[in-house]
Amino acid sequence: MLHNAQGLHKLVKRGGKEVITVEIFKQTYDLMKANAGKLKWNTKEYINSVLAEAIERDRFLQTYAPNLSRVGYQDNILFIRDAKVGKTADIFLKDRVLYCGLCESKDCIHIHYAFALPEVAKMYLRKPR
Ligand SMILES: [Zn+2]
Repeated sequence: MLHNAQGLHKLVKRGGKEVITVEIFKQTYDLMKANAGKLKWNTKEYINSVLAEAIERDRFLQTYAPNLSRVGYQDNILFIRDAKVGKTADIFLKDRVLYCGLCESKDCIHIHYAFALPEVAKMYLRKPR
């Protein structure tokens, strides 16, 4: 959704670029501020770079794997829809390695795609049972 100067957001210029003010959850902001601090970055620049990277990543994924899309994440299983084969791949950790239940493989396009998604970090961060 786009907003113009008369819209919901205040339009200001900084460093020759238009900026808008948005609300970010304080919890998220505090985490990002801490991360920025570790890198000795300005918090605003850091947040903008993280967002720019997310946009780049999505653009890359759409080019690299236009038929794939994330459909869900539940019980440490990531579901990726493959429109090309008309099936959904289930990606999970098997012996601490990502595994695709659809291809029965550790090295397929679904795995490659999964590595670009934040859910994979969640899988690895979760303690093995
Ligand atoms: Zn696969």
